[in-house]
Amino acid sequence: MEMLDKLTILADAAKYDVACTSCGVDRKAKKGQLGSTTRAGICHSFSADGRCITLLKVLLSNACSYDCAYCVNRRSNDVPRATFSARELAELTIGFYRRNYIEGLFLSSGVLRNPDYTTERMCEAIALLRDEYGFRGYIHAKAIPGTSEELLIRLGVLADRMSINIEFPSAQSLNLLAPGKARQSIIQPMRFVRDGIKANYQDKRLSTVRRTRFAPAGQSTQMIIGASPESDFQILKLSASLYQTFEMRRVFFSAYIPVNTNPLLPPVREVPLLREHRLYQADWLMRFYGFDVTEVIDERHPYLDLQIDPKANWALNHIDEFPIEINRAPYESLLRIPGVGVRGASRIVMARRERRLRFEDLCRLNIILKRARYFITCNGVFAPDVIFDPLHIYEQLSRVTKQNQSNKFLKGQLSLFDASCVNNSDGIGSVSGQEQTAIRSGKFGLLETPAAVEQVASYAGK
Ligand code: SF4
Repeated sequence: MEMLDKLTILADAAKYDVACTSCGVDRKAKKGQLGSTTRAGICHSFSADGRCITLLKVLLSNACSYDCAYCVNRRSNDVPRATFSARELAELTIGFYRRNYIEGLFLSSGVLRNPDYTTERMCEAIALLRDEYGFRGYIHAKAIPGTSEELLIRLGVLADRMSINIEFPSAQSLNLLAPGKARQSIIQPMRFVRDGIKANYQDKRLSTVRRTRFAPAGQSTQMIIGASPESDFQILKLSASLYQTFEMRRVFFSAYIPVNTNPLLPPVREVPLLREHRLYQADWLMRFYGFDVTEVIDERHPYLDLQIDPKANWALNHIDEFPIEINRAPYESLLRIPGVGVRGASRIVMARRERRLRFEDLCRLNIILKRARYFITCNGVFAPDVIFDPLHIYEQLSRVTKQNQSNKFLKGQLSLFDASCVNNSDGIGSVSGQEQTAIRSGKFGLLETPAAVEQVASYAGK
């Protein structure tokens, strides 16, 4: 089979994998070698169907020996199959890198014979890239559940980020829809990777391996949304515990796209992209805004409201904590205002050191007043025309969502230029890697990055 045919098959087979994102690792360019990474994250964009394209996202093989009900590559499907040799994959990646098509590699695979055999082939390809071609760019490798610890170590020292898909929010759904995978065979390597990252594996088993930093960009995971009956409450609780227990960098949600007919799978008239979007917003609130999972959702209301974003929903349920006075509220309270993101809250705090803020000033600071205006006062007064009534606010905010939906969600998958809305609650999806690191280290602290200071200074006429 020609390389181009293989690439067509294996890149197409990889498009359902959503777990690729900024790298969060620094590695400078080196004379005689290729590529570099920066902590701010490699740039990435999205193809017409909303999937990431800056990384070469590809499978090593789609000749899978498992038979997961939801997967296009499952054994029982009659689809064209292909497998890259290690050399082919390495040459392809380097060729694309040299042409400036990509900045890194996202490598996953179907289970070729068994998990160890597959992982060995993946390691072989990545080792060629690293050692023979001197590639220092970003590599995200998917580990196969059930892979031995020795191979996980090898993969972890070659790749920057590792991930193992949790697949479903419950063990029951996993057993039903992915009979080849057991929950334990997923949890165990997750724990192993976490410990490896923590210890950075300076133990004996690594002494034979040249690079000794283990998965410096951390680990992530992915679960499919809408193919199984779990509620948003169960999904977010699991995701919170994955962040806590396994120190995940990201938990990705992948809206279920029906590719097979199977009585075990729900009939899907519409890919649940809006639900995926709301889950990402809730996830963002927990990671960057100091919200606890129980504040975002509870067992009595186990699904996120699709009409308004989770932060606005929280605000309406806690209307007694509003309105918030922009000129006096502490940073943590500003963060809780719908329409005010991490950057916006920081800008407000910095700008009000200069003078008392008015609504016009907030526009100049890029605060999304369309949402924030219902929940704030400036110098003790509401914005013009605001009726401070939860029902009225709900109606107004859901109207905004409907307008957005007609543009973004109901017409199908995201386009190249919609990429920012994937994770964007109040503009928070546009927080850069550098800012994310600052937020993490400061535990929701004020974000005085050079860019924010510069913007406020220019606004203040300095
Ligand atoms: S293991 Fe399951 S989900 Fe993964 S490629 Fe094979 S059939 Fe698809």
